[in-house]
Amino acid sequence: METIRIESLVKTFGSVRALDGIDLHIEAGELFFLLGASGCGKTTLLRCIAGLEAPTRGAIHFGEREVTHLPAHQREAAMVFQSYALWPHLTVGQNIAFGLEERRVPKAEIQRRVQDALERVKLSGFHQRSIDQMSGGEQQRVALARALVVKPKCLLLDEPLSNLDAQLRIEMRGEIRRIVKDNGLTGIYVTHDQEEALSMADRMAVLDRGTLGQIGTPEEIYRDPRSAYVAHFIGATNLVSGVMLETRDGLARVQTAVGVLAGRISDPQWFPASGDPVWLSIRPEAWCLHHETGDNPVVGNIRERAYLGQRIQYGVATAAGLQQVVEMNPHLVHAPGEDAITLHARHEDVVMLRP
Ligand code: ATP
Repeated sequence: METIRIESLVKTFGSVRALDGIDLHIEAGELFFLLGASGCGKTTLLRCIAGLEAPTRGAIHFGEREVTHLPAHQREAAMVFQSYALWPHLTVGQNIAFGLEERRVPKAEIQRRVQDALERVKLSGFHQRSIDQMSGGEQQRVALARALVVKPKCLLLDEPLSNLDAQLRIEMRGEIRRIVKDNGLTGIYVTHDQEEALSMADRMAVLDRGTLGQIGTPEEIYRDPRSAYVAHFIGATNLVSGVMLETRDGLARVQTAVGVLAGRISDPQWFPASGDPVWLSIRPEAWCLHHETGDNPVVGNIRERAYLGQRIQYGVATAAGLQQVVEMNPHLVHAPGEDAITLHARHEDVVMLRP
């Protein structure tokens, strides 16, 4: 297990500033996720940590060692790529042994370590199989075994599940987390899949154009986004614009097109003044449309309804625009129509954000 400390990291490609001063401390044994919009710098950051890209400025430490300018194979970090990067003409065993042969490890030890790596990914007995006879999920496990066989301290994963079908992706989530934890690794994982990140991460960072938008546990990021970008990026949300009125009894009161709404300020360091423009973020599941009374009543009309099995999704037209509403009880069915209905959202589920 090893901590990873990144200080003031900058990476430019010509005029593109892919990383613009990243400071990040990843705890030993943590499974840490990097998320963000396409082009925000996730892969570049991972490649700098792996030693596949040289930073323009800044420093990277693994534990007490500075590795900023150390070649990739001396870092004790192994990378798993989206494409797996396996040799199709070699067997499973040969693929896994490849890195050890390059390091001139004795033959008997290679055999033992390959068997051990296969056991760790639950592929014992697949040693002689050729790669093209393996399913996508099995190839993914071979790629993991190849990373584990070099006994890394850090495992770097670049969208490792994106080539698998939906069901297998869900199964592999638990497997990868188990592998990281059982082997005492520090894991850094890049993904576009927010559900993957929410369900697997100890903590995550949302990158925004080469900078850190927010760092936190899945729950902190989901419940307390600090910006509209983060709120939108992790989970769906409704954003309602408004003007700050006052703070009373610990709640911020905001004038909006649907009247005064009250909620909490996500950032304790932020003290907006009366008259400041603000956003309110209200998650679709925070809107409730079957209670007679509640906080933040908003009148609207149901315009759309989509039945999704264990939940129903509604589009409700209001003076503040169409609100996405998710009803988690599929037996409470409302029909689209002209009759006005009233939505409610608890104060604690209305989060005020900087514009
Ligand atoms: P995606 O989610 O689409 O994979 P990302 O967040 O991983 O994106 P990066 O691949 O790190 O983003 O790219 C960050 C920025 O740096 C982008 O603007 C990209 O075009 C640019 N970039 C990355 N690699 C290079 C390169 N080798 N040469 C020039 N520009 C690059």
